[in-house]
Amino acid sequence: MADPELVDVVVVGLGVGGEEVAGRLAEAGLTVVGVERDLVGGECPYWGCVPSKMMIRAANAIAEARRVDGLAGTAEVRPDWTPVAKRIREEATDTWDDTVAVQRFTGKGGRFVRGTARLDGPGRVRVGERVFQARHGIVLGTGTRPSVPPVDGLADTPYWTNRQAIEVEELPESLLVLGGGAIGLELAQVFARFGVRVTVVEALDRVLAVEEPEASEVAAAALRADGVEIHTGVRAERVSHDGRGFALHAAGGARFTAERLLVVAGRRAHLDELGLDTVGVDAGRRYLSVDDRLHVTEGIWAVGDVTGEGAFTHVAMYQAGIVVADVLDHARRAAGGPDPSGTASATGGASGTTGVRGSAGAVPCADYRALPRVTFTDPEVGAVGLTESQARERGVNVQVGLARLPSSARGWIHKAGNEGFVKLVADADQGVLIGATSVGPAGGEVLSGLAVAVHAAVPLARLRQMIYAYPTFHRTVEDALRNMS
Ligand SMILES: Cc1cc2nc3c(=O)[nH]c(=O)nc-3n(C[C@H](O)[C@H](O)[C@H](O)COP(=O)(O)OP(=O)(O)OC[C@H]3O[C@@H](n4cnc5c(N)ncnc54)[C@H](O)[C@@H]3O)c2cc1C
Repeated sequence: MADPELVDVVVVGLGVGGEEVAGRLAEAGLTVVGVERDLVGGECPYWGCVPSKMMIRAANAIAEARRVDGLAGTAEVRPDWTPVAKRIREEATDTWDDTVAVQRFTGKGGRFVRGTARLDGPGRVRVGERVFQARHGIVLGTGTRPSVPPVDGLADTPYWTNRQAIEVEELPESLLVLGGGAIGLELAQVFARFGVRVTVVEALDRVLAVEEPEASEVAAAALRADGVEIHTGVRAERVSHDGRGFALHAAGGARFTAERLLVVAGRRAHLDELGLDTVGVDAGRRYLSVDDRLHVTEGIWAVGDVTGEGAFTHVAMYQAGIVVADVLDHARRAAGGPDPSGTASATGGASGTTGVRGSAGAVPCADYRALPRVTFTDPEVGAVGLTESQARERGVNVQVGLARLPSSARGWIHKAGNEGFVKLVADADQGVLIGATSVGPAGGEVLSGLAVAVHAAVPLARLRQMIYAYPTFHRTVEDALRNMS
């Protein structure tokens, strides 16, 4: 077997997080090997955020056209999936081809290796027969894959995950969605608006169970108005497929049928595949446990979904910034301290001394207090920080304020499609917001100001003194502040 090849950094998994880390470290002058077994860019551009939001954009256009009646005359809508599938194929994913993404990485000076990587002892990564020895560190950005719940018979059926749902060219006549979380609801509403008969089955007692109960109610009502059947508190026991369609048998005897079954019941990191035992890290956990600079253990960092800190692209990108700063800091120290010019040569090769560009400085620590999350249903559900129940569980002296959108000036003007609210959760002792939810036609955008308030711990008194533009949706924040008790 060949000797290990000496490089500065190996990044395993070039999804959102890994690609960002690998590209920026390569641009800084390190020798970086990036290993990806599937498509560079990962889930977000090919089967996640980007194509699903294209689908949502199209479905929302249909919904708006249907709101013309009663507001602006009449509109006849004939939904057609063809342009949506074409846009996903041609504009979003290059027919699921990552040539451009690979070139983007190699153009920054990175070395790309296609394959499945495993740790192979301290500092070493194996890809097939090739072994790389990383001088400064290894970054794991291996993401998650869909969880398949242990339902009898399910594994033997041709069920869909998000991948088949995104790749679909011809819509089924009916669809069962197993899982009423963010991804399940977004896709359920899209397909229903294109005429598919959709049924959502959720084991918990409400959809969007991680968010405020008021958000679950508004989202469920909106989907039902689109014709989606929603069944909560239903535990799937058995699934069968007879060649033409699916039957889902639930505890208590209920039975649901459809042409297709979409399983969106959470996602799982597959730590057992990474060779963690060779570096003394427990692979039996759900996610890689990391400290606030994303260290897993000496010389190994993790980034993105695999850390379990929030399965969002913006979390992966945020963490990537910290990892890049920390790896560069380590590299600088190893090279004998800060680079005084900030422009050292980028000629560090496999055997040379590495030059690291970029300014030395304090490495920031990860802080998830103001983590924003948006479910892109119509209405959108935006949330940041803690929900009311999470805050109460932590023993906070909680104050809550809620104001409904339809009774605000803008909501009343907007009329059709104006469902929503703003809910604020404050720490009464500190006099600051620690969480907020914003549901409405622009719920994700209204969230921005609330995220600033939580992030910067803006005193409630200052928020009450602010001027809120009339008649915006975000003026409801002022109403919710007034309603706080
Ligand atoms: C339908 C859907 C919609 C979504 N919508 C949004 C949204 O609107 N907003 C948002 O913020 N987030 C959204 N997400 C979540 C977002 O896609 C993820 O948070 C993001 O992709 C995480 O990036 P990552 O780099 O951690 O992992 P991934 O994107 O999963 O990338 C990990 C990569 O590692 C590779 N890999 C794994 N193991 C190995 C190995 N051993 N060797 C080599 N390569 C390996 C994989 O092939 C993969 O390409 C959505 C997800 C889905 C499924």
